[in-house]
Amino acid sequence: MASEAAPQTLVCLQCRREVDVKPTLTFLGFQTFQCPSCSANITYPLVPQYRKSYQIATPIVALMTLIGLWIGKPLIPGIGFVFMFYALLRDRALVRGLKAASRPGA
Ligand SMILES: [Zn+2]
Repeated sequence: MASEAAPQTLVCLQCRREVDVKPTLTFLGFQTFQCPSCSANITYPLVPQYRKSYQIATPIVALMTLIGLWIGKPLIPGIGFVFMFYALLRDRALVRGLKAASRPGA
């Protein structure tokens, strides 16, 4: 497996050009790159593996929290859960922005 990300053709959310970039992965699994055309720093939605694991883990932690409340031993969701939840929310907003940017017209 290659350690370096392969170049990808992505749409810049700033200038809406298609650019060939090597996105870097952030701590939470978002892809970021600097647009070679307008040099804006762009954040892309989560890579699919991260999104999938967050989507699996988040309901489990939420369920455990509910069970904890029910049996009277509340489980305090870890900071990891807060990050995952934030990542999913941010991801949703980014996907929406990306769809708007990829849409032709205007
Ligand atoms: Zn750009």
